Amino acid sequence: MIDLRSDTVTQPTPEMREAMARAEVGDDVYGEDPTVNRLEAIAADVVGKQAAVFVPSGTMANLAALLVHCTRGSRALVGAQSHSFRLEAGGASALGGVMLFPVPNTGEGGLELAPLREELEAPPNLHVAEIRAVALENTHNLCGGAAVPLSHAAEVAELARRRKVALHLDGARIFNAALALETSARRLADPFDTVSFCFSKGLACPVGSVLCGSREVIAGARRVRKLLGGGMRQAGVIAAAGIVALATMVARLAEDHANARRLAAGLARLPGIALRMPPHPTNMVYFELEAGAAAADRLAADLKQRGVLLGRRGSASFRAVTHYGIGAAEVDRACAAIAQVSAQLRPQ
Ligand SMILES: *Cc1c(COP(=O)(O)O)cnc(C)c1O
Repeated sequence: MIDLRSDTVTQPTPEMREAMARAEVGDDVYGEDPTVNRLEAIAADVVGKQAAVFVPSGTMANLAALLVHCTRGSRALVGAQSHSFRLEAGGASALGGVMLFPVPNTGEGGLELAPLREELEAPPNLHVAEIRAVALENTHNLCGGAAVPLSHAAEVAELARRRKVALHLDGARIFNAALALETSARRLADPFDTVSFCFSKGLACPVGSVLCGSREVIAGARRVRKLLGGGMRQAGVIAAAGIVALATMVARLAEDHANARRLAAGLARLPGIALRMPPHPTNMVYFELEAGAAAADRLAADLKQRGVLLGRRGSASFRAVTHYGIGAAEVDRACAAIAQVSAQLRPQ
């Protein structure tokens, strides 16, 4: 199978399995797992923050951030297409009583500044839920895996600071963003109070994410993690893979970006397929099948028969994600299969 549904399908590297087997462990809820402690220190340093807390998922990292920054009945301003708003089961509202307030996203993965400004500059009003946080996402998943430039974060940060609200970055794929923008994860994280990132996506770890921020905020997040049932014991077994990932898997993301470009170039030549590429693309290729939803169902089914899996995003919209385990040969095979199948679907 050439599985292009997501970079979450990646298998751990042999070096990770080796490190996991040998990991020195302790009880992390007691703060005594040396491998977790080491990973947290390295992760905090990578994004230039004081502290970090290792959590089971990106969803929990974002949730912990919002629960620390916000109170019940307060608002967090998030992108209308953000992962937090669309794909995290409404956790901040369900578990924290936080109102997720959607701000339109630009096609480039940022927030529309005019409506954001309108919310952040509105005078306090007892009819309106108080704003406690603003969140950005980089790379932005549903906006095509778009890397969001530093200049946009700076503009949002300026507005958030004037209102004295916390600023969170969902940086699930922050290293893809840094690569696409030719900058560092540290610089991308700089304007934010907290930043989350995932080990379990393009970095190919089996499990785990991290939330980074000031010592004080992370102490709060550690308590929230316990409340959410995310306090793990000998978690060094999985943290060990994260340490290997930060040392060995960040630079190779360039291969994924090159393979995504290769796939996009191949698909761009096919009639009936409309590519949706953001200005700063990463390891994702979103495209639309112009023949519509029924044809898209057939495309997905026929490709599966030929050993190619795509992500489905909406009725006639697909996502292909390149990752560790997918090379140029797999991209070419997938592209040839899509060409063959989509040609049969076009009206003759
Ligand atoms: C995957 C992802 C998450 C959540 O990560 P999980 O580990 O799947 O919970 C959060 N934000 C973005 C942008 C993501 O792509």
